[in-house]
Amino acid sequence: MESSVLISEVGPRDGLQSVSTTMPIEHKLCWIDALVAAGVREIEVGSFVSPKLLPQMADTALVVEHALRHEGVTVMALVPNLRGAQTAFDAGVHKITLPVSASKAHSLANVKKTPQEMVQEIHTIVSVRNDLAPNVQIEAGISTAFGCTLQGIVDEDEVVALAKALVDAGVDEVGLSDTTGMANPAQVRRLFNRVRDVIGQKTGAAHMHNTRGLGLANCLAAYDVGVRTFDASLGGLGGCPYAPGASGNVVTEDLVFMFEAMGVNTGINLEKLIAAREPLRIGLPTESLYGMTPEAGLPKGFVQEFVNV
Ligand SMILES: [Zn+2]
Repeated sequence: MESSVLISEVGPRDGLQSVSTTMPIEHKLCWIDALVAAGVREIEVGSFVSPKLLPQMADTALVVEHALRHEGVTVMALVPNLRGAQTAFDAGVHKITLPVSASKAHSLANVKKTPQEMVQEIHTIVSVRNDLAPNVQIEAGISTAFGCTLQGIVDEDEVVALAKALVDAGVDEVGLSDTTGMANPAQVRRLFNRVRDVIGQKTGAAHMHNTRGLGLANCLAAYDVGVRTFDASLGGLGGCPYAPGASGNVVTEDLVFMFEAMGVNTGINLEKLIAAREPLRIGLPTESLYGMTPEAGLPKGFVQEFVNV
């Protein structure tokens, strides 16, 4: 039986908000169109945060409006709080993702709330969603699930308990994020298994970073224990601020190559995906793009059996 995975492209959000230059909206839209043309079916197109804090994301409502024209594409946005969620619902997104840090130190630094206060906020967001936008999916992403640069080790029991609390608060799925690139494959297997034991089918995406070169290995480890949704960023955009010069998010092109070479269907045409680097490069001419597959090219005789875009 053919197996398949969903690759969720987070570059327009996770990538663009970590670079200091703002990509002009016309380039963002070209880039998103190129991703869709390559067969990408879920895109985190921006975040609804204060434009004073993140001017790169000030045009997110307009980007959502454009992305919604693509039939069959799930349009996602990150929101840090109730206010952001309301704006996202108004903009018409299909899905919101809420970052909840397992590390108290990271949580306070990132959203100025403790993890428990975030769960409370999400409880409120879920009831607003139920009243005003019942079709919008809510995902919580547990950031620093595998370790924290501020706090160090993050207790796995606390991650599992947080996942349970988030499901109890009403979210549709809970993903695990290796925000700081500290995870290893054994840990990824163990933690996803433990979380699935408690929240079952509500276990969501793996969001892995490549800070120490283990991004793909960690994705494969997650795949081996049943994870089927993976966040990734074209060109690995989103360098980790704690590791200058290191690539941040898992590179979409390499991740898609890995799965397709294994015979796992991503629905994404690799040649077109690599071509989608061009509008990104034009929109952000000073940023370096990563990726081994685009540099090496596709192997001789390589065919994508299931892809029809
Ligand atoms: Zn990330």
